[in-house]
Amino acid sequence: MKIIEPSDINSLINALQKNGYKTLGPSIQEGVIIYDEINSTEDLPIGWTDIQDGGKYRLEKRSDNALFGYVVGPQSWKKFLNPPIQKLWQAKFKNKNLEIIPEEVKDMKFAFIGVRACEISAIQIQDKIFTQGQYINPNYQKRREGIFILAVNCVVTGGTCFCVSMDTGPKASEGFDLSLTEIITNDKHYFLVETGSEKGIQILSEISSRDARENEIEFGNQLIQNAAAKMGRSLNTSNIKELLLKNFEHPEWENVAKRCLSCANCTMVCPTCFCTTVEDTTDLSGEIAERWQKWDSCFTMDFSYIHGGSIRSSTKSRYRQWMTHKLASWYDQFDSSGCVGCGRCITWCPVGIDITAEVQTIRETEHFQPVLKEE
Ligand code: SF4
Ligand code: SF4
Repeated sequence: MKIIEPSDINSLINALQKNGYKTLGPSIQEGVIIYDEINSTEDLPIGWTDIQDGGKYRLEKRSDNALFGYVVGPQSWKKFLNPPIQKLWQAKFKNKNLEIIPEEVKDMKFAFIGVRACEISAIQIQDKIFTQGQYINPNYQKRREGIFILAVNCVVTGGTCFCVSMDTGPKASEGFDLSLTEIITNDKHYFLVETGSEKGIQILSEISSRDARENEIEFGNQLIQNAAAKMGRSLNTSNIKELLLKNFEHPEWENVAKRCLSCANCTMVCPTCFCTTVEDTTDLSGEIAERWQKWDSCFTMDFSYIHGGSIRSSTKSRYRQWMTHKLASWYDQFDSSGCVGCGRCITWCPVGIDITAEVQTIRETEHFQPVLKEE
């Protein structure tokens, strides 16, 4: 474990850029912390934190100059790995010849700066979906190959975070190239640095650092443990798959449907949601057609449209589909939960619907209607 100073973060950004990475990280835009291109620590949300609750988010000044003193904003890293809109192919029809030109993803190297532990878990979930199993998404795979992950362990937690319940944080234990723990005391400000890959070791060797002392490592671990103890929310996951599947007709689904606007915000902000649709366009000459892929959501009517209509026409059925997929059937499909406990769907739900509270309500008021077997 090494120690670097806050001024060394600029050297780290420079070293990544010298190694061909486009550096992406947190910055403040329009009153929220989003992920965008950054070129120095000046672009980071220095001295700011985020206050979050169900349907609520605001930035507030901290009393120090923390570089990473916030949790997560409305965007996740999926916007770089699986962009919200992308062209898949173009078809050209001229002189009775049809040519299909697939859209090639260019070689790119992105350094993600400030990735939280829950977000690494979300990336690993999407890796499983897009790069493992029978169907590979070549565009995702190509983008993913060029990623450098600079993680930041959480020493503050947000009001809607519940990563401890999902066993995904607040400390990044794997899946990073370098990880930082930001430490601020009355008179000191420094970063503990851990390496997680050969790429990380190489980049760290290009900047100045010193060995961490035992007490500094212990102090960093203590800060992370303190953060874990202060999680804004928790989710009881015991037998969660069975709980949700056997309560398919629980009255809470109707209750939540009365509040849910079916706006799809929860799926847009979720770092693991991956559903898309395609849209075909043609030009006026009729000689060029294109297929574009766009993020979609199980909350839209069109998403479950099959011939004859939508099979999930009610808000109740759409919310139930979303939550039971995340927390129950995801296990059958991908052998894990589809939720990493980042809390975004709670913060960015305009009416403050809370996935942890919905599960708890169902748990406390189980309404199991046994299916009667035919004689
Ligand atoms: S379901 Fe909500 S808390 Fe869970 S990963 Fe998605 S946005 Fe985060
Ligand atoms: S749960 Fe909230 S964010 Fe999700 S669709 Fe309903 S109103 Fe929108």
